[in-house]
Amino acid sequence: MRKDEGAGAASGSGPFPPVRELTAGDVFASLDTSRRGLSAAQARTRLGRYGPNELPRAQGRAVWRQLGAQFTDLFAVVLIVASGITFLAYGLQEPRDVGTLQLAVAILGVVVLNAAIGFAQEYSAERTAEALEAMVPHTCRVVRGGERLEVPARELVPGDVVVLEAGDAVSADCRVVEAHELEVNNAPLTGESNAVARSAEPVTAGPPLEARNCVFMGTDVVAGSGRAVVFATGAATEFGRIYRLAAAAPRQKTPLQVQVASMARRVAGAALAIGALLFAVRLPTGESMVTLFVFALGVMVALVPEGLPATLSVSLAIGVRRMARRQALIKQLLAVEALGSTTVVCTDKTGTLTQAEMTVTQVWAEGVPHAVSGVGYTPSGEVADAASVREVLRVAALCCNARLVPAEGPGGGEHRRVLGDTTEGALLVVAAKAGLDLGAEEAAAPRTTEYPFDSTRKLMTTVHKRGTGYQACVKGAPGELLARCTRVAWEGRCGPLTAQDRAAVVQASDGLASQGLRVLAVARRDVDKPRPAQEEAESGLTLLGLVGMLDPPRPEVTDAVAACRQAGLRIVMVTGDHPLTGEAVARRVGIVRRPDPVVVTGARLDTMDDEALDTLLAEPSELLLCRVSPEHKMRVVTAFQRRGEVVAVTGDGANDAPALKHADIGVAMGASGTDVAREAASMVLLDDSFASIAAAVRLGRAVYQNIRKFLVYLFSHNLGELVPILAATFAGFPLVPISAVQILAIDLGSDVLPALALGAEPPESDVMERPPRSRRERLFSAPVVGRIVFLGGIQAVCVTAVFFWHIDASGIPFEDFTKETPAYREAITMVQAGIVLSQFFNALTVRSERQSIRTVGLLSNPALLAAGGFGVALMVAISCLPPLQAVFNTAPLDAADWAVLAGLGTLPLLADEARKAWLRRRDERRMTGAQR
Ligand code: ATP
Repeated sequence: MRKDEGAGAASGSGPFPPVRELTAGDVFASLDTSRRGLSAAQARTRLGRYGPNELPRAQGRAVWRQLGAQFTDLFAVVLIVASGITFLAYGLQEPRDVGTLQLAVAILGVVVLNAAIGFAQEYSAERTAEALEAMVPHTCRVVRGGERLEVPARELVPGDVVVLEAGDAVSADCRVVEAHELEVNNAPLTGESNAVARSAEPVTAGPPLEARNCVFMGTDVVAGSGRAVVFATGAATEFGRIYRLAAAAPRQKTPLQVQVASMARRVAGAALAIGALLFAVRLPTGESMVTLFVFALGVMVALVPEGLPATLSVSLAIGVRRMARRQALIKQLLAVEALGSTTVVCTDKTGTLTQAEMTVTQVWAEGVPHAVSGVGYTPSGEVADAASVREVLRVAALCCNARLVPAEGPGGGEHRRVLGDTTEGALLVVAAKAGLDLGAEEAAAPRTTEYPFDSTRKLMTTVHKRGTGYQACVKGAPGELLARCTRVAWEGRCGPLTAQDRAAVVQASDGLASQGLRVLAVARRDVDKPRPAQEEAESGLTLLGLVGMLDPPRPEVTDAVAACRQAGLRIVMVTGDHPLTGEAVARRVGIVRRPDPVVVTGARLDTMDDEALDTLLAEPSELLLCRVSPEHKMRVVTAFQRRGEVVAVTGDGANDAPALKHADIGVAMGASGTDVAREAASMVLLDDSFASIAAAVRLGRAVYQNIRKFLVYLFSHNLGELVPILAATFAGFPLVPISAVQILAIDLGSDVLPALALGAEPPESDVMERPPRSRRERLFSAPVVGRIVFLGGIQAVCVTAVFFWHIDASGIPFEDFTKETPAYREAITMVQAGIVLSQFFNALTVRSERQSIRTVGLLSNPALLAAGGFGVALMVAISCLPPLQAVFNTAPLDAADWAVLAGLGTLPLLADEARKAWLRRRDERRMTGAQR
């Protein structure tokens, strides 16, 4: 049997492979690979043989099930029952009224239309989710042909040597062959979320998942680093084994959706009550019970906001799609709403505010600064007096896990890209600029162990074989490192670190930091064993020097920060960097403008109790949190939330996950973040930039505004339908001013499409000029209800007046009117047309709460105009075409009638323009008053 076939057994068909019982060396042989990994050709062959490292896709619900589900929600059931009763009523009627049949069919029509919208929406939301998923790259680092590479996780094959670091998701089942403080979280497989240590030692029997030398697909590396050899991929992994082709997880409803659904139910209840009331009031008129029942039922059905939940979901989905275009992937619909009400953004510095393009600009060794020329990761440039800083740079470069690889794309050549931490990338570049041959240095001092960097300790140590002994190379934050140094090696002197030296180092470090540079100190010590304890390797160190690196701010961030400030958002920078570095960068991007920002370090946070922290956050000062660890971040997020703030927090590391989960919006970095952070977040920024957060907040606010727009639109027109009916009933008019079928025609013809178009409105230009919406604000706030009554009231008064004016003009007494009376048919046509026309103008005015239609632009939402135009055209057809006249009992209107209706239709628009102008003037007066 060929060895590759052995790997095939490892990849799944056979029992759990015995790699856990082998020594690390034998593992390579058993999987026909080596420490240098597979060759490119071997990887290709194995990919062909074992297939991509993917699990079969979870099957969503079958299409027919999805469609069927649309007919089983509460509204649909109510409507189906109503339609059934109406059909029954038609059967019982003597003589039969074709209008009843039409009503029954129309109600069914509403059900089908709603189901179609709901289905189309769900279907496209699923496709969008899939497309968004595909935008987040799932890659992993492997060693192939001795080179460290980044490959798509689906291309992993048995025998691949993968490199593991804290924050990585494990992409296949692997046997660990090298471990440095390596810890994984096996929760997805075992349900226990404690971090468990992994080692490279062989183990014997026991359940596979408990093998301490294996890591499994679907789990995460939470600490440390290491290497492991893949032995199973895709469906052959443990994860694949327990993976169920479960039905799609139930989709979570956002609070907004819940609010709308419960409100819609309440409205349905009210509609039922109004229907019953009308039934009772009309009882004495002597109409047949069946006719009365059908009438009341029609009114109820017409008042139910059937299209509302679908319109809401569509507008949320549109928001998600728009954000994706602005590089922000929303993983949970919940985030769209939360974004709109965000009040505090806690942001990282590196990568989010800055370009994460680190360049060492100064090396400070032997007590003097050495300038470095050149920008970015291209190793062309020079280090002044390079010979005297070689040792600092050699030690710093040895203590790095990052790699420089040729940059892809145009202009490749000399250009390099960093695989791994950019801080380390910058160190490798400066070492190369100083003339060090990194490959030769590594070969001369092979690494024997490592204590990886972590943002709490802020240090990293590697131990190397050097001649007959060993040397620990340590780099980290100057404060932390200096505390562990007892000696210096500079200015030709190798001796004790004096108090004077310490002061000089602190002064130099502060000097570099206040220029906005990230500063690292570098030290070494000799040790006598290849794997000394961490405490031993990181104490009694000899300080070699400092390195200062520049990370220029992203150019787009300054404007985004200004926009957020104007939108009333508080921006708090949370960084692991030195306070002076943090403040310098914060100043450059506009987060800090006053001379006296409050800078709080992690150490000070530790001394504060919750009360002191709350007091600190309550001050409206410019706040910077520096030298903090992810635990501090979590504490600050919680404290802000205690104060009722809606907090967005950014994070990239594995230990940022708790804060990301806990915040109202966890924002992870798509480009530089770890898999764990991306999993925990509710939003992923593809470009890592703070500007994308600002853009997402703007879109989140727009979504909420749009929802309010179509609520006002939908409910105000319900008032226009109801009031004439009530008026006629109380005036003793024997017939209805608008029939149930007409109301349904309005709902289907002029309601749904403009509401959808309103849900897709682009953000209003002043959306970022207002303070954030209060978290407690209900959808049906006083201004929303007020506007519904205002617009709907005008509409209702107009159509009621038109109806009675027309009836009165005919000179026929009330009691002589029948359904066939031409004046009655014209009057009810005018009521329907009046509502449709005023809805057309209503849609235009609800587009903004405060801005004039001239500012918003009459033509800026063509879909809305088309939807409204369609409603008007349908109305003209209902009035003019004989077959439709027969269905709706309508009559043709003359030009003068249309002109009157169009004129009245503009009234809500004009009145609302006047209201908006008054609002704007009032605010202006308040502003000038406040300025005085
Ligand atoms: P930012 O807010 O800028 O993203 P951060 O919170 O990610 O910063 P850390 O990465 O925790 O900050 O870095 C804190 C300090 O630790 C840095 O100022 C630097 O001195 C040091 N440091 C950073 N990366 C490394 C590393 N790879 N090895 C050793 N020390 C490092």
